[in-house]
Amino acid sequence: MSALLDFVRGRPLRIGYGRIFHEANAHSPLLTEREDFERMHHLEGKELERATTLRGVELKSFMPHAELTGFRQAARLAGGVDTVALSSSLAVPNGPLSASCFAWLLDGLERNLRAAGPLDGLYLALHGSMQVDGLQEPPEAAILRRVRAALGPSAKIAVSCDLHANLSSGLVDPVDVLVAYRTNPHWDLAPTGFRAGQRLIRALRGRQAPVHAWRKLPMVLGGGTTIDFVAPMRGVFRFAKELERDPRVLTANIFMVHPYTTAADLGWSVHVTTDGDERLAWEVADRLADRVWSVRNVEMPRSRSVDEALDEARGSAWRRLGPITLVDGDDIVGAGAPGGNTRIVESLARDDRGLRAFVPVHDPALVAEEWDTPIGARRRVVLRGTPGYAAPAVELEGTLAARSTTDFGRTLRFDVGSFHVVVTDRSPLPIHPSFWSALGLAARDADVIVQKNFFHYRLFYATTSFRHLLVHSDGATSLRRVREQPYRVPTHPRDVVRDWRDHAEALRG
Ligand SMILES: [Zn+2]
Repeated sequence: MSALLDFVRGRPLRIGYGRIFHEANAHSPLLTEREDFERMHHLEGKELERATTLRGVELKSFMPHAELTGFRQAARLAGGVDTVALSSSLAVPNGPLSASCFAWLLDGLERNLRAAGPLDGLYLALHGSMQVDGLQEPPEAAILRRVRAALGPSAKIAVSCDLHANLSSGLVDPVDVLVAYRTNPHWDLAPTGFRAGQRLIRALRGRQAPVHAWRKLPMVLGGGTTIDFVAPMRGVFRFAKELERDPRVLTANIFMVHPYTTAADLGWSVHVTTDGDERLAWEVADRLADRVWSVRNVEMPRSRSVDEALDEARGSAWRRLGPITLVDGDDIVGAGAPGGNTRIVESLARDDRGLRAFVPVHDPALVAEEWDTPIGARRRVVLRGTPGYAAPAVELEGTLAARSTTDFGRTLRFDVGSFHVVVTDRSPLPIHPSFWSALGLAARDADVIVQKNFFHYRLFYATTSFRHLLVHSDGATSLRRVREQPYRVPTHPRDVVRDWRDHAEALRG
């Protein structure tokens, strides 16, 4: 109420903003550490303030304007709002955070929050599918508890989440305004921050009184089936946007859950905020849940074994048009896998099929062993992949053909038979053909290129590769591991579930 009175008297609102953002893959043996954030994105105070202006670059080498820039635009347009930079940290998807890394992030945010002085509100960009080694509760719940304690009870909190968030009451209950991305792959980071900011400011000025309702659905689908502009999700997102056309409905969110954490309450959810009408919020949430549930039987894309895919590539007429892409669906680095799967190389080492294949493999130990080997040397090496990943060891005899230091750390190229193995110090993501050219390889010359990502790479290979085969190889993003999770309730499609209502309450805990 004091913020409202101050507004009437003309004092500007003070709203802090920050981010703790990470998507965890519990099946990766690599813990995420402080250095992973510092290398990717970690800004505080003045630096964060500069990065989140329209002239600034918020997420370097990824997205110039993201949630926090969008939030500050909403504040600028609303007028009479002072925004206060706290801290912002993001690392690429990987294994769970170490406990010390999480403590460092949380301490940093709290320190900045206390240094900021009294705030009327706070906007935080979170992911919603974090995991911390040894922590039994959702990390977002721990973040919000600390933040609420530092802010005091009267300030309002807005949070935006990735649409792969796994909602829990610890994340939902302390938050006044919750919004989610609406695109997959995600490009709408800035518009999401804008929507969060706009609704938070309206709530602080007493123009809206957000009340929320949310439902959790016993369903977990695999990756690669939930593109927002392709059926069936296109219709679902359109439905959510139509719900928001009702002026009483402030937000209608869909969360499709990142399936690779070990949270026992894993499941899709919907979340609806209305302007003061709780009954309407529940009614709209149920309608949205029904709409989401109606598309649960989406057909999974056809996946092949490694041998099947390489055999098909050998005989395929598509090779004449350009390299055939093998999407290593069980080792998706963009979804937190480490990229150290050796099974494709194992198959090629047995029989290279005359294919000029380009294969990236994460193996920091091999990079360290061979870094000083002269270029052109004939070597017999053992490729083991990511330490602790249980990928098969593959003996290779070939030539060390090139070395380079890239975005993926120290990188070596071995030429073996007709194929090329690019071994990296950090998880490889050959989304752009420059990954190969840094090692003297031209993507256009390949018969087969192995990708560690479902979709983004297609933007950069649109005129190079016209045939894409999904491969399963038993890694950290394998559907088998998703299905073997000890879920709290029967979960579609692993189990037969008649109606989402049968388990919705148990799933919310
Ligand atoms: Zn996501």
